[in-house]
Amino acid sequence: MMRTKYLIVGNSAGGIGAAEAIREVDKAGSITIVSDEPYPAYSRPLISKSLTGERGLEGMLFRPAEFYSQNDIVSLLGKKVKGLGLKSHTAEVDGGDRITWEKLLLAPGGAPIVPKIEGIGKKGVFTFTTFDDAKAIDGFLASASKAVVIGGGLIGISATEALVKRGVEVTVIEMKERILNTILDEPASLIAEETLRQSGVSIVTGHTVAEISGKERVEGVALDDGGGIPSDLVVVAIGVVPRTELVLGTEIKVNRGIAVDRHMATNYPDVYSCGDAAEAYDFVYGVDRLTPIWPNAYIGGRVAGHNMAGIQTEYPGGTAMNSLNYFGLDIASAGMIAPPDVDGCEVLSRQNGGIYQKVILKDDLVVGMVFVGDIERSGIVFSLMRDRVNAGSFKQSLLADDFGLVSLPRELWQERLGTPPPTSVSQPAMPEEAVEDFAGE
Ligand SMILES: Cc1cc2nc3c(=O)[nH]c(=O)nc-3n(C[C@H](O)[C@H](O)[C@H](O)COP(=O)(O)OP(=O)(O)OC[C@H]3O[C@@H](n4cnc5c(N)ncnc54)[C@H](O)[C@@H]3O)c2cc1C
Repeated sequence: MMRTKYLIVGNSAGGIGAAEAIREVDKAGSITIVSDEPYPAYSRPLISKSLTGERGLEGMLFRPAEFYSQNDIVSLLGKKVKGLGLKSHTAEVDGGDRITWEKLLLAPGGAPIVPKIEGIGKKGVFTFTTFDDAKAIDGFLASASKAVVIGGGLIGISATEALVKRGVEVTVIEMKERILNTILDEPASLIAEETLRQSGVSIVTGHTVAEISGKERVEGVALDDGGGIPSDLVVVAIGVVPRTELVLGTEIKVNRGIAVDRHMATNYPDVYSCGDAAEAYDFVYGVDRLTPIWPNAYIGGRVAGHNMAGIQTEYPGGTAMNSLNYFGLDIASAGMIAPPDVDGCEVLSRQNGGIYQKVILKDDLVVGMVFVGDIERSGIVFSLMRDRVNAGSFKQSLLADDFGLVSLPRELWQERLGTPPPTSVSQPAMPEEAVEDFAGE
């Protein structure tokens, strides 16, 4: 039986955020991180770069490999936590080992959804959420020239871009009417679709895959309308669900994800959760919901870690925010992408060919934004949204070409930067703190 003061399940954004925060306040308390992936913590968004060959594992690590020894953290990598004893404060790890803990963080992330369709078990069907997935696809590419990607969301398009860079002919099948529909509105999705098509990607929307055909390995897919597409490999990217299996059937409350309060604490004493597995506060919607993005997992992890170590800290709230580049097209979106059907909502938008920008306000607060093609001002708009700045007096200039910090009213400038505005400014594209660097690049 091994003993640890802090047990962390999951060695990624959430888990590492927590470990770092714990060490800031508790230099001596023992920390153990368990992960069923065998690698030091790496940046998950970079798995597409590992598939293209642009990054090896070394270049994907978001903390140096010595992070664990330097911070006196025991890392059990390649080991799965199979069960929890909440009352006994224990965890059972692969191989029968038991760990006793004082505080527990559940940061197990999400698992890819795999639909139960005919042929899903054939050789050549992959998911795309881990470094091992990228390695497995890489190992298969020598005998594949055509791929079908099921799902036109963020993960599906990341996989598509990497496959295209590897010279594979890709067809994306999206069940809804347009790709990237959870992060983009219709005009923005159309620009993204056009960019993908120009890069040689075929896109089928409004349909799904009914069957994967072939003898032992994939030879093609059959669509729900009877059409067929020849293919050597299939990437399943239809979504990710919170990994709640460790707490299902226990007293810990689970909605769509593990329920946590603003301290990232579950309803069970000494048990915390964060990241893709947890439903935490969304400051735009004003409710707890899943916001499965890297910075929210890391910040949530830090808040959990501080609270686990006895420093009362509150999660400021996160929201869905993405800043991406696919096939050379810059995309930034956050919060609501379509206005809710309520009074007090206002939409500002403008489009010029492949450049599209939209800001949604409710009662003069920014509650959503979509920027495609030119995202230069998305950082400052996001910071107004995050900081709940009343934009009533300057909202009409939010999408102006020269909008920048200098456009803010004098008192706001003073409040945000601690200095009055200079009389003439060379405007930085984005305030440094405005946009988190999701990919760790
Ligand atoms: C292809 C791809 C691209 C992405 N791009 C972006 C992006 O551009 N921007 C962005 O913000 N986000 C992006 N994301 C999402 C981002 O990666 C996640 O939000 C983030 O990784 C969540 O961190 P987490 O710590 O909650 O969990 P995860 O990163 O999912 O890590 C959880 C870890 O816990 C392990 N684990 C689970 N259960 C157990 C158990 N019982 N025992 C032991 N270990 C366990 C898992 O195997 C995993 O290693 C992307 C994700 C993918 C897959």
